[in-house]
Amino acid sequence: MRASPSKPTVIIIGRPNVGKSTLFNRLVGKRLALVDDQPGVTRDRRFGEAEIAGLEFQIVDTAGWEDEDPDSLPGRMRKQTEVSLEGADAALFVFDSRVGLTPLDEEIARWLRSQKVPVVLVANKAEGKQGDAGIYESFSLGFGEPAAVSAEHGEGIADLFDHLWPIIGAKAEAAEIEAEIDEEDEEALLAGPLQLAIVGRPNAGKSTLINRLLGEDRLLTGPEAGITRDSIAIDWEWTDPKTGEPREIKLIDTAGMRKKAQVTDKLEKLSVADARRAVDFAEVVVLLLDATRGLEAQDLKIANLVLEEGRALMIAINKWDVADNASSLFNGIREALNEGLAQVRGVPLFAVSAKTGKGLDQMLGAAFELREAWSRRVPTAALNRWFDDALEANPPPAPKGRRIKLRYITQASIRPPRFVVFGTRLEALPKSYERYLINGIRDKLGFEAVPVRVVLKSPK
Ligand code: GDP
Ligand code: GDP
Repeated sequence: MRASPSKPTVIIIGRPNVGKSTLFNRLVGKRLALVDDQPGVTRDRRFGEAEIAGLEFQIVDTAGWEDEDPDSLPGRMRKQTEVSLEGADAALFVFDSRVGLTPLDEEIARWLRSQKVPVVLVANKAEGKQGDAGIYESFSLGFGEPAAVSAEHGEGIADLFDHLWPIIGAKAEAAEIEAEIDEEDEEALLAGPLQLAIVGRPNAGKSTLINRLLGEDRLLTGPEAGITRDSIAIDWEWTDPKTGEPREIKLIDTAGMRKKAQVTDKLEKLSVADARRAVDFAEVVVLLLDATRGLEAQDLKIANLVLEEGRALMIAINKWDVADNASSLFNGIREALNEGLAQVRGVPLFAVSAKTGKGLDQMLGAAFELREAWSRRVPTAALNRWFDDALEANPPPAPKGRRIKLRYITQASIRPPRFVVFGTRLEALPKSYERYLINGIRDKLGFEAVPVRVVLKSPK
């Protein structure tokens, strides 16, 4: 099961009476909290769902700095704030721009600088011009230019957005994408019949293979010429010899009928068209090669087409019963595939014979496994653990001295697996680094033989 989408968390920090609760209410949009002139009204942490111009986040209002003595940092409260800070993606450090900085503001600032959380300085009560001096003064805190707002009058919220977006925008978008993902029931998908297509060049043995699998001369006695211009699907039950369990397969045949239709010319081209049609229906596509011919350019073309369409691909070398120099043939094809198929690593490769039935059960067992990998979703937490490690092991480059920041990754879809990486300055990310990430996903997260998509996304 997938972890639920996690919005970024923003914590509001500041000394009493600067307007934290008012800001909280403004951002949450509901008047939930008690607001009072008396310092210390907000005793506990409060949590709310906040939104600014479509940017959604969780917000926490802290009682962290409330005390009778405005110049001290009471240990108990401070502890509580520290706990809140641990899970926070950003802190809004609020001060009263009319009053200007107080010793307690300075102390909070010192403490915040020692924390890891990114800080957005918020100059509240800045309506009119009355906060200008305080805003100026606050530059000395070292948090950059503050967002000048009036929580009470709802002013400056756009400014706050501009400060927050670079920090939490990526995570917020990722959470949004996750929330949009159809709650497809992966188990139900895997319980349905395996939609399997067999494609390949003329005479590779597709008809023979399908007949062999079905155990009858089905295609030769099948529909008359002209009836099936396109594909046919044959529902069939295969008994897995490993478990003895029957498993449903929907076999998609695009070429078998062609023969009966007497189309003898342009067969080579048609094999590509067949493959293209097959992938519309198939989950897993088996590309059948002819052992007596080896791997040819046309085969690679079909294979790449299947992968471009995001389908799970397997390759079976047929006519193994008449193959010469079998092991060097197999290894040669293995190598040529590794070179010729950039989108996958180690595409499953089988030696089979449609004539004798050799290797067919193994091939079908592997097809079910491949469908599983193709349908798999990596939980977001595990995905980001891998991501953090990958970035640490090999940090993204800093072209022209400015670092590219990669912040977050999410799996946006399955079948095929598609990942979205969020960050900034992504247009400067070299292709080689993108490949590094894709290879990591394949090798470390179990998608070796599956076409993996990675999309880079900068907020805004
Ligand atoms: P907290 O103790 O930091 O949570 O502060 P509160 O939200 O309770 O606000 C303290 C006082 O400041 C209240 O009287 C608010 O009405 C007032 N206040 C909050 N925001 C603003 C603002 O933007 N402008 C002005 N003038 N007053 C504000
Ligand atoms: P298709 O055009 O891909 O459907 O290929 P066919 O199934 O019509 O087979 C083409 C030729 O290869 C036929 O003469 C088959 O008998 C032969 N053939 C198919 N599979 C095998 C096999 O595993 N071993 C051998 N020796 N011949 C095969």
